[in-house]
Amino acid sequence: MTIDETTAAETAQNIDVHQLAASRLAVTDQRYTKTRRTIVDALHASEGPLTIAGILVFSDELAQSSTYRNLAVLEEAAVVQRIVVSDDFARFELTEDVTGYHHHHLICEGCGAIIDINLPRSLEQQLDKALSDQARNVDFTGTHHRVDLVGLCSDCH
Ligand SMILES: [Zn+2]
Ligand SMILES: [Zn+2]
Ligand SMILES: [Zn+2]
Repeated sequence: MTIDETTAAETAQNIDVHQLAASRLAVTDQRYTKTRRTIVDALHASEGPLTIAGILVFSDELAQSSTYRNLAVLEEAAVVQRIVVSDDFARFELTEDVTGYHHHHLICEGCGAIIDINLPRSLEQQLDKALSDQARNVDFTGTHHRVDLVGLCSDCH
């Protein structure tokens, strides 16, 4: 792939994320404001989930109070999900619905670090089957699964 093609692909991906974010907000009667777009940009540019502090360093235009408020709106619209490690740590990332990126997490209880990980497709299918078999037993309608491993990162053990 040439550099031009890479850039075009990344641009297309960005437009997609913003369009999906905007349409999700519209469902809850919310506008896709500049601040919300900047938060989505920050999360989209990041390698992994970000703390509030991590989001704030992305742009000088983000103020702490409005970032909190807007993250709550984005969460409500299912554009962003909060990953809670403990009472002290929370991180944010774009939802799978918006990015199309299905993955799992390694969550450090020591420092709150979260690492995105991928599982083999065959294991994903087994997981889905095992979970939906259990769900069917109790007439539960599943939409998606979350499986994260909690422990200590290399800095903390
Ligand atoms: Zn750690
Ligand atoms: Zn993640
Ligand atoms: Zn999975």
